[in-house]
Amino acid sequence: MQIGNGEDTQIFLDDWLSSRPMQRAGISAPLPNDAKVSHLISTGNWDANIIWTNFSRLTVREILSIQLPETNSTDTKIWRPDRNGKYSIKSGYWTAQEQGITAPETISKFWKSFWKQELLPKWKMFIWKIMQRVLPVAHKLEKRKIQIETHCKFCKSEKETLEHLFRDCQFSKRIWFGTMGYRTNGNHGTLQEWIQNTLNSIWNRNDEGSHSSIQAGNRVFDPGESQILMVKVIATMWAIWIHRNEITFQNCTPDLQRVMETATEYIHRQAKATSTKVQEKEKLHTITEKPASHNLAWTKGIIQEGQLECFQVDGAWKKEKNSPNAWEAAIAWVNEYNTARWEAQKILGSYPVQTESLAILHCIESVRAEFKAISIKTDSKEIVQALLYPLNSPLEVRNIIANIEARVANLQFISIVNVKREEVSKAHFHASKARK
Ligand SMILES: [Zn+2]
Repeated sequence: MQIGNGEDTQIFLDDWLSSRPMQRAGISAPLPNDAKVSHLISTGNWDANIIWTNFSRLTVREILSIQLPETNSTDTKIWRPDRNGKYSIKSGYWTAQEQGITAPETISKFWKSFWKQELLPKWKMFIWKIMQRVLPVAHKLEKRKIQIETHCKFCKSEKETLEHLFRDCQFSKRIWFGTMGYRTNGNHGTLQEWIQNTLNSIWNRNDEGSHSSIQAGNRVFDPGESQILMVKVIATMWAIWIHRNEITFQNCTPDLQRVMETATEYIHRQAKATSTKVQEKEKLHTITEKPASHNLAWTKGIIQEGQLECFQVDGAWKKEKNSPNAWEAAIAWVNEYNTARWEAQKILGSYPVQTESLAILHCIESVRAEFKAISIKTDSKEIVQALLYPLNSPLEVRNIIANIEARVANLQFISIVNVKREEVSKAHFHASKARK
């Protein structure tokens, strides 16, 4: 049960806490057996008074560690986790079916289809990097305080962002028209959305088209149009990127013809790889070529101007759930460029993913008035996954994620990136100190 206003959840009859049995305090006027969770909430916050008088310490701590949503919302029944306590993709999927929600799954669907495609491994990485906004375009390097010419290498008038370089630049527009007959006018979304929509529409053609390719009793898959279209789109982007690097590092002048030739050459290379035995090797290769998990990132918005500020966050918690100081945890954040700027505090929490997500939430809360574009490093892969696929996320973090989403609404750009433990050592230091 994901608690909203608590009106639809019965304290003693519904399954909404993990520590069982629920430990009640022996008082003279206990809550009635059919009392609702809303009894324990007053004006959007837990009523600590009522809770402390009715429950034992451990149960109190678990209740108080549950984050309530900031907006008034109803309780949501959530598909039970698997026996091992994990929310598998499948159980999340069935929850979605039950509730009739389909939309938020599209990005995970996109990746599922994408990794299956017959594409050169380096193209998969290339698209993956663009989608995670980690491709080193000038604008991005500038944010990391690397001295660099930030203007677009093609038109030399606009800033080089992903959107501009691959889609909106006058030069790139002419390339798209030249290779595919595409007009890329009027696209104002992010490049990620654009790629996702474009490739999805190509793959869906594939589903419809496969009907007509059943021939002579054999299901002959027609690799034809959809595969060619997809390859053309990616080859065009690849050729733009290669030419951009030629100009940057070899001092060439922008040459439309050259980009078209590069694209054509790569379309042939891909076709060859698909049609020969090499295909088998490539296939094996592609499966293992998935990016390392420490690169997982959740991003929102577009970086436009101003400095990108980087922060580390970390949480420290107790492992033994039944020890007297279980639920005693601490969180911390620190500014990477200015390590004198940090905050740490004690909180109630016991799940690593819950503690980490609270650390992120508090970091955003503390710095969002000051900075418009921020990047937060966490060593929790689980929380980044939960942000990417909220429907499959653990129960304890759903409200926290909703609150994170609400709080980043006014930021120009935010990325939450999963990094190795060593990379959040400064935040770890403050968190473990605060917990003691
Ligand atoms: Zn340009």
